[in-house]
Formats: sequence, structure tokens, C-alpha cells
Amino acid sequence: MAPSVAVVGAGPTGLALALMLARQGRRVVVHERFDEPKPIGAGFMLQPTGLHVLDRLELTDKVAALGQPLNHLFGREARRRRIVLDVRYSDLKSPRPDGVNALGVHRAAIFHVLHDACLAEGVQFETSREIASASDGRLTDASGAIGPQFDLVVDASGARSPIARDLLAKQGGRRHELEWGALWATVPWPGDPFDATALEQVYRGAARMIGVLPVGARPDSPDRLATFFWSLKSADHDYWLRAGMERWKAEVRGLWPEVAGLLETIPDPEALTLARYGHHTLSLPVADRLAVVGDAAHSTSPQLGQGVNMGLLDAFTLAEALATHAELDEALTAYARIRRWHVRLYQALSMGFTPFYQADGQALPWVRDHVLGKLARLPFAARILAATVSGVLLDPRPR
Ligand SMILES: Cc1cc2nc3c(=O)[nH]c(=O)nc-3n(C[C@H](O)[C@H](O)[C@H](O)COP(=O)(O)OP(=O)(O)OC[C@H]3O[C@@H](n4cnc5c(N)ncnc54)[C@H](O)[C@@H]3O)c2cc1C
Repeated sequence: MAPSVAVVGAGPTGLALALMLARQGRRVVVHERFDEPKPIGAGFMLQPTGLHVLDRLELTDKVAALGQPLNHLFGREARRRRIVLDVRYSDLKSPRPDGVNALGVHRAAIFHVLHDACLAEGVQFETSREIASASDGRLTDASGAIGPQFDLVVDASGARSPIARDLLAKQGGRRHELEWGALWATVPWPGDPFDATALEQVYRGAARMIGVLPVGARPDSPDRLATFFWSLKSADHDYWLRAGMERWKAEVRGLWPEVAGLLETIPDPEALTLARYGHHTLSLPVADRLAVVGDAAHSTSPQLGQGVNMGLLDAFTLAEALATHAELDEALTAYARIRRWHVRLYQALSMGFTPFYQADGQALPWVRDHVLGKLARLPFAARILAATVSGVLLDPRPR
């Protein structure tokens, strides 16, 4: 009988992995807590690393048809309009031959492409199954029911995975809930004067940050969309709700007058979702008959825009390791070893960079605006910055 794999979670990491393993001839069952697998969360950026994995799946064209090619990350300080972030993908040492180095993507777009491909490969979906733990290849769900044994369980259930939480505790690690999160909304693409090929951000100090990310279209409509972000401390959400939309909109318009039209498309507070961020890294993302991938293995603030891309890299690395090692233990060890330093580097970079963009106080934003902003304009720095945001430091791309 074909080796069997239980994947927990139908997010981008779980779906990509399920597809790869099904294509290897394995029997794959995805367990998802929702009644129906569905996309959740804000639009995001696919970097050259994530695109490379989609290339290997031969799905880049389908995702690109829905997404929005991006060339540029641009951030400026609100008051003096000083440019503090100016990263161009054209500065990459090895830009992609098709010229598409990054894509803004609506979550429904990648979900639709991966989910359809999974169904076509015979991946099975068990829905309404909230998994509480995994042991010896068996899953226990929230009602206490224990399922059949699989050769391998892969946990792709995201940042708050109970399976990863148990493993993290065994490894003596801890998840840190971050003080700052963000409100986000999907809005119609606002058009002029916004640049359709750029992620644009405006800051005041590090306590205010507004972002507009072009994300292309959903699969069911040709309308072009953007994701709008507003940085907020999670603990201040109730206060923000009580203060009322009009006061908030006036503040946003004061910082970035050009978003006035876009704000009109956000009718009420319910249109904005609060994303809470946390940070954890499993020192070893494998155990007996268990591999952990994506946000379950390493979650962080999305300031560097790597999460989906890291998950796709995990999925590809694990699938390759399973294909090339006859023994399961050897494959799991290889997966952990190959991903180890790239994951650690980007977790550390995210931890280090985030306070320059989300924090109280003036010191870090001052350094960002007066020192980092100027350094970033030096020619060698432009290349390093482009490589950093592209996820290609310690180049992890499978060859
Ligand atoms: C506001 C915001 C902006 C972001 N921007 C970017 C960006 O620009 N670029 C980028 O690369 N990343 C970005 N990220 C990070 C990115 O969203 C995550 O890294 C990515 O979604 C992780 O994918 P995943 O498949 O590992 O987990 P998830 O996307 O969290 O999927 C987990 C799946 O598991 C299911 N599940 C959860 N618990 C259980 C359970 N107990 N039992 C069964 N099923 C379960 C969930 O329903 C879900 O379907 C952003 C995140 C946020 C919040």
C-alpha cells in the first residue's frame, strides 16, 4: 500500500505539501478544522523563494494570472515625506528570467490554485476536524476521538498549532505574543496616485504605520484589489473600536492624504480584521512520525513578508527529503538540517527589524530614518536589502 500522510491544516503550506506528496504517489489526507477548506487572512507577497517553489509545482502561471507583479517596496515618513524604505527587485543579483520577482496575492487566489490541484491529484480532505494532538502517527481531535495510524503526520496548522505548542514545550521553547499587530482590510484597488507595482507604506515614528499592498484579483471576479494595513497594539483594539471610525479616518488622512478615497470603501470597523502576531521557532521541527512546517514551526511578525514563502520552502524541502531517503527518520533529519539556518536567520531578522517599524518611543524610528534610510541608498546596500526582502539570503531555493 502507498505510504500514508496526514497533513493538519489546509493553509498554503499544508496544501502545497499535500500536493507534492500526492504527486509522489502517497495517500494524503488533509485535516482541517473548518467545515470547508477556505482561505483566511490578509493578502501577502510571494517572494522569489515562494515563486521558485510554485515553479517546481508548475503553478506559477496560474497564480501570476490572478496576482499583481511587484517591483518595489517603498516607505516614507509621514511628516517630512523622507524616504526610509526603497527596495527594488531589479537590484537582485539574479532576478528571475520572467521578470516577475514578487507577486502581491489575494489569499483566495493561492488557495484556489493549490486546492484545485490537490483535488485533481486525489488528495482527501477531512473537514470539521479540529486536531488537538499527534502521537505515533495518530491524530486526536478536539472531541478526544483518536484517528487511524498514518506513516507520517505533518503539522501545518499555523502559528497557534496545539501540536507544535506541545513540541515547543518539550524542547524548552516558548511562544512570545507580540504587543503589536495590525488591522487589515481587502479594498478595491484605489488606482492613481498609487503605484500598482509597489507595496507602499507611510510611518510616523514606529507607532503609526499604514500600508497599501496591491494583491491582484480573487479567482471569482476580475476586480483588482489591495490589502490595506494599519498597525495597532492588540491591547488597544477595544479603545480603537470605542473611539469611532471617523476619528480614526481623520488621523489616517492626516498622515497620508492620498488614502482618503480608499478609506471611503471601509464602511465600518467590522471591515477591518485584527491580526495578532507572535514569535516562536521550534529548535527541531521533527519528532517520531511527525514533521512540523510553515507557521506551526516558526511564526513571526510579517514585517519582512516571508511567512508564506518560508512555508512553501518547508513543504518543498520536506517533500524532496521524503522522496530521496528510504528511511523516514533520515528524511525527517534531512528536512530539519536543510531548513535550519535559513529559518533561524529570517526569524532573527524579523525579530530584529520589527521594532524599527512597530514600537513606542523615538529612538529606533530615528535610527531607521536617519541612519538605515541613508545606508540603504549605498549601492552595495541596495543589493543586500533586495536579497533580504526576497528571502534569498543563505539561498534556500531547491535546485
Ligand atoms: C496581516 C498579515 C500579513 C502577512 N503578510 C505576509 C506577506 O506579505 N508575505 C508572507 O509570506 N507572509 C505574510 N504573512 C504571514 C502568512 O500569512 C503566514 O506565514 C502563512 O499564512 C502561514 O501559512 P501556513 O499554511 O503555515 O499557516 P496558516 O495560513 O495559518 O494555515 C493554517 C491552516 O490550519 C488550519 N488549522 C489551524 N488549527 C487547526 C487545528 N487545530 N486542526 C485543524 N486545522 C487547523 C487553519 O484553519 C488553516 O487552514 C502575513 C500574515 C499576516 C497576519
